[in-house]
Amino acid sequence: MKILVLNSGSSSIKFQLMDTADRKVLCKGLIERIGLADAIFNYEKAGCPKTREVRPILDHTTGIKLILDALVHPECGVLASLDEIAAAGHRIVHGGERIKQSVLLCDETLRLIDECTPLAPLHNPANLMGVHAMQALLPTIPNVGVFDTAFHATMPRYAYMYALEYSYYEKHGIRRFGFHGTSHQYVAMRGAEILGKPPAEFNCVTCHLGNGVSLTAVKGGRSMDTTLGFGTVCGVPMGTRSGDVDPAALMHLIDELGMTSRQVCDLIYKGSGLKGISGLTNDMRDIEQAAAAGHERAELALEIFAHAARKYIAALATSLEDRVDAVIFTAGIGENGAEIRERICKGLGFMGVHLDPARNTVRGKEAIVSTDDSPVKVMVVPTNEELMIALDTEAIVKASRA
Ligand code: ADP
Repeated sequence: MKILVLNSGSSSIKFQLMDTADRKVLCKGLIERIGLADAIFNYEKAGCPKTREVRPILDHTTGIKLILDALVHPECGVLASLDEIAAAGHRIVHGGERIKQSVLLCDETLRLIDECTPLAPLHNPANLMGVHAMQALLPTIPNVGVFDTAFHATMPRYAYMYALEYSYYEKHGIRRFGFHGTSHQYVAMRGAEILGKPPAEFNCVTCHLGNGVSLTAVKGGRSMDTTLGFGTVCGVPMGTRSGDVDPAALMHLIDELGMTSRQVCDLIYKGSGLKGISGLTNDMRDIEQAAAAGHERAELALEIFAHAARKYIAALATSLEDRVDAVIFTAGIGENGAEIRERICKGLGFMGVHLDPARNTVRGKEAIVSTDDSPVKVMVVPTNEELMIALDTEAIVKASRA
């Protein structure tokens, strides 16, 4: 089935046309600077050079029209007709409490997504613009929403509830949601495939280490617990986000230092993490270089990052009860950061994690990087959220036709 995968941001649209039969990408691209006269349309047909065109693209509908025109273009196109597109799969950030899986987008589901806007004010409205544009341009093609939060809908109540006084959950919906769900779901699925295990019997801790970071306990294909929560700041420190901080310390900043809630918010989302500790940058490669050159706070940033990730791998393993089959690393740092993987795994020998230093030099491709006799396999699996969105979209479309 040919699925158009769309990730619509407020000023950008990433797209891929994917054939689910062989999991191949037929073409892909990115529109940047939507709303401006000098927007950029980047396009790449599989096996051909990339093209880049600067032109006015004032809204999402114009952007998606350009994408559709490119798909059927006589030279650079990949389709004879737009009728070949079976469905569009849209990445949607927040599905709240009520959307627990990928869904066909109809008036009712679009209303539910809109209701989640206060939970993801930057993302959900932009995601919806992409859906509305597709509905206007290709009204006969089904649209499916695939949610960053949905994979975590299987978390048991004791994992998603905070121990705040109960009415804050009941009346105000304060709870853990979790994010990066499509990435965790994909790498857990691929991990089982690579090891030849039935997904229903495969238990792993997935470590999505990019600019954003979250770790998840996945038991038989279901999320049991995850490090991100109501928002996208807790758990392991990230590029600029703090990770866990005692809320009492944040109250202290407000009550004793007179900081506003906006200032505290900026501090924990934009001024902390690798950048805040090192005083340098949010980029792991630069931090590693600086640490190697003797920069003390860059070294401290690496130590804090590795310690937190290690601590959460061990903590999340308790949600897998009887057995951990694998620890899986993904996203920019997880896929490429051989040194940080080594730092994280050092100290996990007690739970059967034994890294093979020679195998661990791998960057950016699927590999098992633990020793042959390591009871827990350590794996690198490049994430592929677009493929997961395409596969889910195909499944939903097939089910709706049955
Ligand atoms: P995003 O969350 O923005 O999608 P990515 O998944 O692309 O982020 O991850 C970005 C991070 O990956 C950056 O901190 C970058 O330094 C890091 N990274 C990329 N390549 C390497 C590498 N070779 N070694 C260590 N870190 C790397």
